[in-house]
Amino acid sequence: MRSVFLRKTMKVKCPVCGKETEYSPANPYRPFCSEVCRTADLGSWASDEYVIHGEPGSAMNLSPEEYEAAAEHTREVAAKKERSRK
Ligand SMILES: [Zn+2]
Repeated sequence: MRSVFLRKTMKVKCPVCGKETEYSPANPYRPFCSEVCRTADLGSWASDEYVIHGEPGSAMNLSPEEYEAAAEHTREVAAKKERSRK
């Protein structure tokens, strides 16, 4: 488990709304910008369509590059679901 993120403040984009948010212990909703986005995205992160290294919920241990790729993937999955619903 990597803890490099906890050493300094890092900005990441909220995977739900794309807003820049703090990826740090100061943000209890990380990697999301708020409780609203975290709740909205729970389904995607827990889904079997979205698995990081075979470990659901391991997003907190990702490197910035991995996080960005995963967040991008999450947005794509969410967009596809949104389209298939209509
Ligand atoms: Zn957000």
